[in-house]
Amino acid sequence: MTDITIALSKGRIFEDTAPLLKAAGIIALDDPESSRKLILSTNRANVHLIIVRASDVPTYVQYGAADLGIAGKDVLIEHGGSGLYQPLDLNIARCRMMVAVPEGFDYDSAVRQGARLRIATKYVQTAREHFAGKGVHVDLIKLYGSMELAPLVGLADAIVDLVSSGNTLKANNLVAVEEIMPISARLIVNQAALKLKRDIIQPVLDAFSEAVKQ
Ligand code: ATP
Ligand code: MG
Repeated sequence: MTDITIALSKGRIFEDTAPLLKAAGIIALDDPESSRKLILSTNRANVHLIIVRASDVPTYVQYGAADLGIAGKDVLIEHGGSGLYQPLDLNIARCRMMVAVPEGFDYDSAVRQGARLRIATKYVQTAREHFAGKGVHVDLIKLYGSMELAPLVGLADAIVDLVSSGNTLKANNLVAVEEIMPISARLIVNQAALKLKRDIIQPVLDAFSEAVKQ
């Protein structure tokens, strides 16, 4: 029997994914949140889950180490999406990619006056495209987390980050001034696997697609 492997990350994405997997008849035998295992068996002998860093999901799927995966649009844009088929917006882990600045910083006039802005972000690719599209000159500073700190200590004028409730911004006296794009998690499929294992992958895609419509 052909096996398939699905790459997932812990946390937010897994929480929202478990009901979709269930709709496809797939139930993890261990809880990924508490288990230290990185390869999890499921109720279906030929379906395996691997637990990886959110930003590594597209890489595992691109190289065929996983056949399917679930990754945020933010992560997919930074990765570039090569070798990946992206058939479905799962509408989960929704948030917004935003530009945020310290309260009192006049972003609009800085942009109008053609100031060169220092932007700290984990999402360098997304930020580069966004500001290039607006004709704003920026110096991008790559960070791996806690972007909110950067403007508070003079590392940057503004940040590009994901925002959902806005509570983290508020707690650090930052305000969102521009939406770059809405973000949600997507199903991704290795293009070669889709051809070679269509009989087993297609029913999973169909079940996900039905569950998303509910
Ligand atoms: P790590 O925490 O391991 O460094 P990460 O920060 O990428 O990795 P998460 O914070 O779990 O991992 O985020 C995973 C995905 O969830 C993101 O790629 C994004 O698509 C989505 N996400 C991130 N922040 C939010 C949020 N505030 N609300 C909703 N979805 C979010
Ligand atoms: Mg995180």
